[in-house]
Amino acid sequence: MIILKFGGTSVGKPERLRKVGDLVLKTPGKKMVVLSALSGTTNTLVAIGDHLLAGRRAEAETEIVRLENHYQAYARDLFHSSEYHAIGQDIVSRYFSLIRLLAAGHFDDRSYRELLAQGELASTEFFYYHLRERGIDCRLLPALHFMSIDENQEPELEKISERLRALLPSMAKQEILITQGYICRNHRNEIDNLKRGGSDYTASLIGAAIQAEEVQIWTDIDGMHNNDPRVVKHTVPIAELTFDEASELAYFGAKILHPSTIVPAQKRGVPVRLKNTLAEEAPGTLISDRGTSGTVKAIAAKDGIIAINIKSSRMLLAYGFLREVFEVFERYKTPIDMISTSEVAVSVTIDDDRNLDAIVADLQRFGAITAERNQSIICVVGNKLAEREGVLNEVFGSLGTVPVRMVSFGGSLNNISILVDAGQKERALRLLNRGLFHLED
Ligand code: ADP
Ligand code: ASP
Ligand code: MG
Repeated sequence: MIILKFGGTSVGKPERLRKVGDLVLKTPGKKMVVLSALSGTTNTLVAIGDHLLAGRRAEAETEIVRLENHYQAYARDLFHSSEYHAIGQDIVSRYFSLIRLLAAGHFDDRSYRELLAQGELASTEFFYYHLRERGIDCRLLPALHFMSIDENQEPELEKISERLRALLPSMAKQEILITQGYICRNHRNEIDNLKRGGSDYTASLIGAAIQAEEVQIWTDIDGMHNNDPRVVKHTVPIAELTFDEASELAYFGAKILHPSTIVPAQKRGVPVRLKNTLAEEAPGTLISDRGTSGTVKAIAAKDGIIAINIKSSRMLLAYGFLREVFEVFERYKTPIDMISTSEVAVSVTIDDDRNLDAIVADLQRFGAITAERNQSIICVVGNKLAEREGVLNEVFGSLGTVPVRMVSFGGSLNNISILVDAGQKERALRLLNRGLFHLED
C-alpha cells in the first residue's frame, strides 16, 4: 500500500480537490489518502477557539459565518448533480451546526480540541463524496478509530498498527481508502491532535504502522529545498536526503514537514517522497536510508528560541553538575536543543517557554542565570558533514560579520547548529546561500 498525503493548499479549492482525485486515480495499487483541512481552516478554527475561550462570542460568530459562507461556496462548486449538491449542503450544515453547538456550550480546552478536528473531518467527507460522484468505489476510514497518543502526547505506534491491521481486512475490496490527517484520540479517549502541521505525521505513522511501500507527501512546492524559500529567493530542490538529514531539517524549521514526520518512517524503513501537486512531473525529494556523504545539503532555521546561560563556579572541576542542571529541564518537561559549555558556564537553548520563569527560578541555586529571548537556530545539514574537511571554515567564512551567539558541532555527524539573534536570521540564511551553495540570495 502507498500512503498519499495532501496538504491544505492541495485541497483548498474545488479544482485542486478534483486534481487530487485525478492524482489518486493515476496512482496504481492500493492507497490510503490522508487529507489536511482546506487551507486557512485550521487558522480560522484556532481564532474561533481563542475568541470563545476569552468569552468573545460575537467575534467567534463573525468568524463562523465567514467560514460557513466559504464552505457553502466550495460545496456548490465541487459537486455537479442535484443529488450531490444536496449532499454537499448537508455536509456544510452538519459541520456548522456542530461548531455552533460547541460555541454555545461551556467552552473549555476539550471543546477547543474538538473544534479543531472539524477541518479534517469536513475535507475528507468532501473528497469521499467527490469520488463517489465520479462513480469511484472508496471508503472513509475515520482516524479517530485508530490514531492515538499517550499521556505524554506521544503516538502509540504499536496500538495504531494493531488497530489498522484489524480494520483493513474489512476494506479489502476498495483500492482507495481516505482518512483524516492531524486528528487523534488521547489517553482519556478525547479528541486531540498531533499539533499544527500534523497531517504529515499522520501519513508517516500510518506508513510505519502498516509497513507501507512508500509515504508520499504532496504539497505546494517541488520537494525539500536547500534553504527556506520564504526567506531566500533562489533556492533549489534536493533530489535525495537520508532519513537523518530530513529529520534534522524538519526538526530545525523546514516547514514543509512537521518536525516529527520522519521518525516513524525511519523506524520502519519506509521511504518518504515529497511531491508537488501543482507540478506533478517534478521529481521532488526522496527520503530514504541511501545517502551521499560529505556534502552540505540544506539549511533550515527555527525561530522563537530562548538561550539560557548558567554561570557557576561550582562547575569548575566538579562532576554531576550538568546532571543536576538537566534534571531541572526534565522536571518541567522542557526539551533542550543546543548545549555549549566552558569551565564555569553552560548555555542551553529551549523553544518551549511555558515554564521559563519556573526554570529560571529553579536554576538560581547554581549561580547567575540569564535568559535571552528572540533567538534563532540555523542548522546546516548534510550526511557525515563533520567529516568534510574545512566545513567550519566554509560556514563561518560565509557568515562573515554575523554575530554568532552559540555553536554546536560534532554531537551529530549530520548537522552544524548556530544560534543567532532573530534579527540576524535572514541575513545569515542569505549569506549561507551564497557561500555554501553559490546561489544568489
Ligand atoms: P501543506 O499545507 O501542504 O502541509 P506547508 O505550508 O505546511 O504545506 O509546507 C509547504 C511550505 O513549506 C512551502 O510552501 C514552503 O514555503 C515551506 N518551506 C519552508 N522551508 C522549506 C524547505 N526547506 N523546502 C521546501 N519548502 C519549505
Ligand atoms: N490542518 C492542520 C494545520 O493546519 C494540520 C495540517 O494541515 O497538517 O495545522
Ligand atoms: Mg504542512
